Amino acid sequence: MRQLWIWCICLALACPGISRADSGKLSTFSLNGFKYVQLDDWAKNYNLNFTWTKTAKEAQITSKWSKLEFEVDSKKMVLNGVAVWLSAPIAYRSGMACIATLDLDNAIHPVMFPTRNKSGDKVKTICIDPGHGGKDPGNHNSGGYEKSYTLLLAKELKSQLEAAGFKVVLTRTSDKFVELESRPYVAQKLGADLFVSLHFNGVAGGGAKGAEVYALTPPGAASTNARGEGATAVRFPGNRNDAQNSLLAFYVQRGLVRSTGADDRGLRRARFAVLRTSTMPAILVEGGFMSDATEASKIRSSSHRRIMAKGIADGIKEYKRIVEQ
Ligand SMILES: [Zn+2]
Repeated sequence: MRQLWIWCICLALACPGISRADSGKLSTFSLNGFKYVQLDDWAKNYNLNFTWTKTAKEAQITSKWSKLEFEVDSKKMVLNGVAVWLSAPIAYRSGMACIATLDLDNAIHPVMFPTRNKSGDKVKTICIDPGHGGKDPGNHNSGGYEKSYTLLLAKELKSQLEAAGFKVVLTRTSDKFVELESRPYVAQKLGADLFVSLHFNGVAGGGAKGAEVYALTPPGAASTNARGEGATAVRFPGNRNDAQNSLLAFYVQRGLVRSTGADDRGLRRARFAVLRTSTMPAILVEGGFMSDATEASKIRSSSHRRIMAKGIADGIKEYKRIVEQ
């Protein structure tokens, strides 16, 4: 029986997606409203290598396919080279690093043990949502408005995805105001399999740069966006796709950072209106900061937007490849 169990785990790791991970058999404790498990126990449970640097309070978990890096008291971890923001910080108890089970279920397992689509269920139609529009200009700088650049990036991404064989629909194709709540509805009506909202960041006084991708915050967790929405147990329609939201956000963030070389601000969580109401896997991309002079000039450049679009398209293609396996 034990041999069979180990074989199943190996198979799951070799071919992610064959079985969803289960941390239910590990011993847990409660801390600050979260259920935690020891990282070394979790690693052992999945036959992964665990390294603990006591002085730095850093933990590393590796396998042939994965590398996970954690730091005690930090919400930021690195998963296969991509920054991922956890809902609860890594805790320190009995001389060991511990992780919230909510983060295992919503951030780590969806990437390490992805859920496959039902056989024959393909990712064909992508809804691109150019952020803002019309009376809602979004961020601005001396070069223009966010609403203009999101539309330009959306059109570039559309042509690249169509060239890769996807059907693409847009929530707006001109400088038109579209209510936030009706954007996912447009996607649903047009039969989209994924919803990708495009935005550019801005911060008063500058100082911040880099790219980040948002997935809907899971129930019970606080968000990790700048506004830092507090925890709520409310389940939104978008929470039905928590695992696929995380998987899509992970690969689009990886694609974007690899393609552009932008600072990796990580996979983050927010309860943005377009993510709350999406009925298909949905993400929101913040492609760079309009308030940073260097990034602002890149956002203005059509050749750089082509590179951004390539990164996002690479992430979508990788997501498709994995869920259709
Ligand atoms: Zn925006």
